[in-house]
Amino acid sequence: MRIAMIGSGYVGLVSGACLADFGHDVVCVDKAADKIEALKRGEIPIFEPGLDALVASNAKAGRLSFTTDLSGPVSEADVVFIAVGTPSRRGDGHADLSYVYGVAREIASAVKGFTVVVTKSTVPVGTGDEVERIIRETNPDADVAVVSNPEFLREGAAIGDFKRPDRIVVGLDDERARETMTEVYRPLYLNQSPLLFTNRRTSELIKYAGNAFLAMKITFINEMADLCERVGADVQGVARGIGLDGRIGSKFLHAGPGYGGSCFPKDTLALVKTAQDHDSPVRLIETTVAVNDQRKRAMARKVVAACGGDVRGKTVAVLGLTFKPNTDDMREAPSLSIIQALQDGGARIRAYDPEGMNAAADMLSDVTYTKDAYDCAAKADVLVIVTEWDAFRALDFPRLAETMSSPVLVDLRNVYKPDEVTRHGFSYTSIGRGTTR
Ligand code: NAD
Repeated sequence: MRIAMIGSGYVGLVSGACLADFGHDVVCVDKAADKIEALKRGEIPIFEPGLDALVASNAKAGRLSFTTDLSGPVSEADVVFIAVGTPSRRGDGHADLSYVYGVAREIASAVKGFTVVVTKSTVPVGTGDEVERIIRETNPDADVAVVSNPEFLREGAAIGDFKRPDRIVVGLDDERARETMTEVYRPLYLNQSPLLFTNRRTSELIKYAGNAFLAMKITFINEMADLCERVGADVQGVARGIGLDGRIGSKFLHAGPGYGGSCFPKDTLALVKTAQDHDSPVRLIETTVAVNDQRKRAMARKVVAACGGDVRGKTVAVLGLTFKPNTDDMREAPSLSIIQALQDGGARIRAYDPEGMNAAADMLSDVTYTKDAYDCAAKADVLVIVTEWDAFRALDFPRLAETMSSPVLVDLRNVYKPDEVTRHGFSYTSIGRGTTR
């Protein structure tokens, strides 16, 4: 299959490289010329484990190439994927579809022969109808089938997720696309990943319903964690106790500082807006969004409490800035709100993150970036683990105690057991472990 992938960010680049690895001929297109130039030089513009080797081997084999010009690859493609961003629209929280619609217009002018146009970006229900309308309006002769194929990969584990997905969802209203999509995903299908065909609107909604459910699950355990702290229970015990129930499942039951990242915050909000527009409000998700928003600043208050009620003039050392480990993605990371709230309270911030500091520097001000966890902790009044990178899982506490002004640890990811920390003379605060401080 000849595939054009429009948008070469986290999703487009990973999907393009994996599809090339399946044996398809893939051209990744992006309008960001610096990104494409870097890719042509063999440099990967994002951090995603294993992606450099996958891109290099497929580029070398001649199955994967990069360009800023959309028209050439689209005119030759059997399948065109749209994988551009759909951020929250400023002001109202609806998904901003301007990139998707812009690409649809460009595709319309370039397509030749029957072409399957696949929306991989996360888009509100009904967007496929509009993409189809735009293409037909721009080029009445275009022979296209517009398909929805949402992506479920997780940053940090993206290649494994793409190659071994729990399921592949394909939403189509034009039967001609079924064979093409089966061919695109044949290697996965042979591996017995279920290929779920449905209609286009159902497929679009599956993506939002899935993300909203996961965000709700995280928020549920976060609220249980708060309750555990009040009543002297342990949220990790609660999570294990309910997670072993097969109807509930153990995943996404880790209490923490609230969900962030490039998907959950914007997708929950977009679902809320879609539902309101259709007079069918999703109140559980409205509440999830509100609870999660408040949680991030509440985490800063936890740090303030650990410092005796005031951080003015104190130095807070923050370990981990990205919204989760193994990515450089800082979009909607809880660290942003937590650091802002601490700065509002008069704290000085030192920070270390293995991959996120470049992106963080564009989003935060007055932060001193350091070379590792120990450098970060130097002369600090409190150390806060915000993101559970492996590098923070076996900290040398005697060394930290020596370098810090006072041995105080706030562990927002429950990386440690309380006694592992307190026996080194640290005061220790974690999440939802009411019996220990
Ligand atoms: P991203 O911002 O990393 O990448 C989008 C890319 O599209 C950018 O490189 C941008 O330059 C490019 N682009 C924008 N307009 C273009 C145009 N007209 N022509 C060519 N390129 C253009 O975004 P992402 O994280 O890859 O997300 C893409 C979509 O996938 C979003 O809808 C997102 O919700 C969804 N998604 C993301 C993830 C994730 O973990 N990041 C997972 C599943 C789904």
